[in-house]
Amino acid sequence: MTTFATGTTKPETEIQRLLETAALYLHIPFCHTRCYYCDFNTYAGILPMREPYVRALLTEIELAGEMARLPDGSPRRSRTIFFGGGTPSLLSVEQISRLLDACRSAFAVDEDAEITLEANPGTLTQEQLEGLRRAGINRLSMGAQSYDAHLLKTLGRIHTPEEITQAVHYARAAGFTSINLDFMFGLPGQTMQHWRDTLEQALELHPEHFSLYSLIVEEGTPFYKWVEEKRIVPGDEDLCADMYEYADEHLRVAGYQNYEISNWALPGHQSKHNLTYWQNLPYIGMGAGAYSFFDGKRFSNEREPREYIKQLKARTLPIVESETVSLEQAMAETSFLALRTAQGLHLPTFEQRFSLPFARFVGDRLQLVEEAGLLEHENGWLRLSKKGRLLGNEVFLRLLPD
Ligand code: SF4
Repeated sequence: MTTFATGTTKPETEIQRLLETAALYLHIPFCHTRCYYCDFNTYAGILPMREPYVRALLTEIELAGEMARLPDGSPRRSRTIFFGGGTPSLLSVEQISRLLDACRSAFAVDEDAEITLEANPGTLTQEQLEGLRRAGINRLSMGAQSYDAHLLKTLGRIHTPEEITQAVHYARAAGFTSINLDFMFGLPGQTMQHWRDTLEQALELHPEHFSLYSLIVEEGTPFYKWVEEKRIVPGDEDLCADMYEYADEHLRVAGYQNYEISNWALPGHQSKHNLTYWQNLPYIGMGAGAYSFFDGKRFSNEREPREYIKQLKARTLPIVESETVSLEQAMAETSFLALRTAQGLHLPTFEQRFSLPFARFVGDRLQLVEEAGLLEHENGWLRLSKKGRLLGNEVFLRLLPD
């Protein structure tokens, strides 16, 4: 695992090199309407604010680039950029291009960086996708959610099943070779047959990546109220487990690897950006309400777009909360985030990163779950066993500091 940086005589481990990078996340908080289950920091009815927001984001990128410079004054390296939301595809190609140019000026963005844009299938045109590809976006992540028209309405989504297929065809014609589709299970009224049909139709599109999430009913959403009023009933735990297993089996047969609990990819198409989070590596989130983990601290931005714009007009980084991550916390988080992935935790890398063997950090806290067969060791890797994947929380809780 130890490699040496080219062009330098100073030996450097791979993990040290990665710890000196920062993944970039840009939050675009606009949506046409609010989906009934959504609790993201996103707003309907503020589309006229797009240009002032983009200008504020350009300022934040510049300031964040300054803040993140290396000790020798050179810009921080970035391997990935992710436009998330919200619905980033509601920005024009020209606005996305300006944001990308700003990232490239403020950070040392790799030539072959993975640059993802989240898109809503109902908002995409062929021309726009061609423009996005030319601007440098090389990965699309689409919130498809279901191939059932009735379930899409239940969720409050604005697109139709036909628009999912059309959007993928447009994206292929525009030259996209890396596409993720998000789907949800455990939805009110969703049967196993709905789920089978959705996956079958999605597989016909041959996306390179799938993210499959079970519905979480978040407080403050219309869904939460409707569940309380017993107007809707989400899928129960058993049905969700069956849907998950069905998907896993079928996607594996189709050549996808389940590289993280909720994510499947064809070889070579794992999301580099999301792996940054699971490897607990630094990232800088920009935009209203965005979160960062950088320089040993976790911090978050002002959530409200108007207030966010105001602070950037005054050229102030809009950070509202910040906490220093203790060494103990960093070791725990690095361990359980890695255990979410199929590869697991690489124990020699853990030791290089924290100058402490994992066994010393964990003591006998994992003894019971090891004896219960929830963990397995292989060539320096520690990972959840098949049984452990169903009972992951039992392991994760034992890693947290007291
Ligand atoms: S499109 Fe996505 S971000 Fe926007 S409201 Fe729906 S779920 Fe939330």
